Amino acid sequence: MADFDFDVLVIGAGPGGYVAAIRAAQLGLKTACAESRATLGGTCLNVGCIPSKALLHASELFEEAAGGKLAKLGIKASGVELDLEAMHGQRLDAVKQLTGGIEYLFKKNKIEWLKGQAAFTGKDSVKVGDRTVRAKNIVIATGSSVTPLPGIAVDQKVIVDSTGALELLKVPGHMVVVGGGVIGLELGSVWKRLGAQVTVVEFLDQLLPGFDGEVRKEAAKIFKKQGLEFRLSTKVTGAKVEGGKATLTVEPAAGGAAETIEADVVLVCIGRRANTDGLALDKAGLTTNPRGQIEIDHEFATSVPGIWAIGDVVPGPMLAHKAEDEGIAVAENIADLTGIVNHDVIPSVVYTSPEIAGVGLTEEQAKERLSKSGGEIKVGKFPMLANSRAKTNHEPDGFVKVIADAKSDRVLGVWIIASVAGTMIAQAAQAMEFGATSEDIAYTCHAHPTHSEAIKEAAMAVQGKPIHI
Ligand code: FAD
Ligand code: NAD
Repeated sequence: MADFDFDVLVIGAGPGGYVAAIRAAQLGLKTACAESRATLGGTCLNVGCIPSKALLHASELFEEAAGGKLAKLGIKASGVELDLEAMHGQRLDAVKQLTGGIEYLFKKNKIEWLKGQAAFTGKDSVKVGDRTVRAKNIVIATGSSVTPLPGIAVDQKVIVDSTGALELLKVPGHMVVVGGGVIGLELGSVWKRLGAQVTVVEFLDQLLPGFDGEVRKEAAKIFKKQGLEFRLSTKVTGAKVEGGKATLTVEPAAGGAAETIEADVVLVCIGRRANTDGLALDKAGLTTNPRGQIEIDHEFATSVPGIWAIGDVVPGPMLAHKAEDEGIAVAENIADLTGIVNHDVIPSVVYTSPEIAGVGLTEEQAKERLSKSGGEIKVGKFPMLANSRAKTNHEPDGFVKVIADAKSDRVLGVWIIASVAGTMIAQAAQAMEFGATSEDIAYTCHAHPTHSEAIKEAAMAVQGKPIHI
């Protein structure tokens, strides 16, 4: 330690970096974390998971009150009005409390926050602001930023990215969302519920790439029923902003006649890319792969000894909980323990209404994988319409689907569309982590009446014996 200022220096204080720093400190390592943002917590807490969920929750309640759902339950709420300023206020409050919470945890764990942009000056040295520090281990957790759409400049007023879409000061008349992925559907839903007409332009012929095929089809049906409009297999080729409005030029993805769409706000959300600009990776002897990500091995080590990387900046799903688990594992590996993340069991949730969640293989992936070894899959499905709690709560949309290996019965994937799918998927992830069979789930007693009983019934359906359908 003689020459080093720190045992561990983490670059970036998002869910990957701050968790890595806390775990390293817990393990007795002298730890610092460099962060250039004015608050800790990264994309997730500042402009991602947390503020988007604050608006999703509030807009859902607004729609329930204003759209007549509460009235159907016998709750008369007349004169319901949107106070957008207050809605933004509670969003900012959630962000402030949670980012402040990380600052408290840093102090509690004696983690030094090096404020400023970090850049490598060597394999074990980093400059942050005016200070250069040496660390025995450096963890790159610099996260990701919005992928720009060539020819379409984000001004955060008429053409916005996800950060701008969280901060709109009035409900747009017509919002065009470019990209029918997770952000497009979540933030498109927020502004639709608050009164905007929302059109989603998606390059592919379906929404939500990476999700189970049947889930993607059903989700599209549900969103259409809710009034979202979709232009699938369509690409945006240009945008002109004039007089506070945008005119987008679109054409069929396969080529064809161009047409224009007018919008008050355009949300560009076509994916995110790894943050490595300004890190001076070359000074550390590191390079990026063709996708701009830092490659790592199973232990999160880069090609340079003592330098590690986790979270959105490395290949894999760009999810906060994946980054957090990698943060714990990398700190444990640095401390000579065995830090492992099972990347086959990372749940994914879209926080729309209903929520959409999945873990493990899609039906398409499972079929393909097993067919290579002559194997087959069994699929069990159960509709939420037949689940007593969902029915009682007037939440009929969606289903649970359990995919298992036909021979061993081991569960390979679980996909859910349900009001509380994001909470339900945890039991599926845990079952898969323990190597459960569909029979294990089917014979586990589930409390009644709960949405989770639909998972048990879908598991029973794998054996062809559900009770309630
Ligand atoms: P980040 O959270 O991006 O943090 C990296 C940090 O590093 C940043 O604070 C950045 O300022 C800092 N940094 C970068 N370079 C430097 C440097 N050179 N020096 C100093 N500091 C630097 N995921 C979910 O799982 N659930 C969700 O509900 C969800 N919702 C989302 C909603 C939106 C609108 C967005 C945009 C993302 C959402 N995500 C969600 C994705 C999630 O935010 C990311 O996967 C997660 O934040 C990645 O964590 P990370 O630690 O790798 O990086
Ligand atoms: P995404 O990858 O989910 O979706 C992007 C969509 O844009 C895709 O459907 C893609 O086909 C489409 N697209 C790409 N280029 C296009 C073009 N030129 N024209 C039209 N469509 C185009 O990306 P995102 O929605 O921007 O989200 C970024 C990341 O943030 C995701 O990886 C996601 O994991 C993460 N995130 C997660 C959550 C969550 O977990 N609930 C919420 C928000 C964001």
